[in-house]
Amino acid sequence: MLLPPDDEYFMRQALREAQAAYGDGEVPIGCVIVKDGKILGRGRNHMETLQDPTAHAEILALGAASGALKNWRLEGCTLYVTLEPCPMCAGAILNGRIAKVVYGAQDKRLGALGSTYNILSENPINRKIDIVPGILGGECLDLLKSFFREIRIRGPKKKLAASDHPDELSAAEQVPGRNLSELSGFEEVDSEMDGDIDGEFEEDS
Ligand SMILES: [Zn+2]
Repeated sequence: MLLPPDDEYFMRQALREAQAAYGDGEVPIGCVIVKDGKILGRGRNHMETLQDPTAHAEILALGAASGALKNWRLEGCTLYVTLEPCPMCAGAILNGRIAKVVYGAQDKRLGALGSTYNILSENPINRKIDIVPGILGGECLDLLKSFFREIRIRGPKKKLAASDHPDELSAAEQVPGRNLSELSGFEEVDSEMDGDIDGEFEEDS
C-alpha cells in the first residue's frame, strides 16, 4: 500500500538506510532529505567502512542532496534521521539551511537537538528550524539496541549477512505507528542504550 508522503513514511525510508548500515556492520543510523515530497539524498552511517569520523548518516545525506540540487543551500528541505543528530551534524544542518528536522530516537549522550545542547533551536543566527522528535522512535531505538546486543554476542566489526538479523523493519511495519506520545517512555530505555553506545564507541575509538 502506498503511504502518503508524511513524516512517518519518510522516517521509514530513513529506517531502511539504518537497516542497510546494520547489514554492513555499521551502527544502524539512517537519513533521508526530502523536498516537495521527493527524496533528494540518502545517507547511512559509514564510519567503519570509510574509517572517517565525519561519515555520519546526516553528513552523507546532506552531500547527496546538495549534489542532486547542485546547490548547498537546502532551503525548504526536511531532514529525516533515525537518531537525534550530534553537534557536528546539527552544525551541518544549520549550514545547509535545512528547514525542518524529524528524528526518531533520542540520544542522551550526544544528541544536540535538546538532549545535550540545543544547537538548532538556540542558534546564534536566529535561523528558524522546525524540529519534530520521536517519529517511529521506538523502532529506531529497537534497531540500535538489536545491533549492540548482537555486537556483544559476536564481537565488533563483523559484516552481517542480511539473514543474520531479524527483519526489524518488516516486523515493525505491522506494529501500529509509534509517535511522540511514547517519547516520555524513552527515558528508561535511553539510559540502557547510552551504555551500549558509550561502550561501543569508546571501544572503537
Ligand atoms: Zn552526527
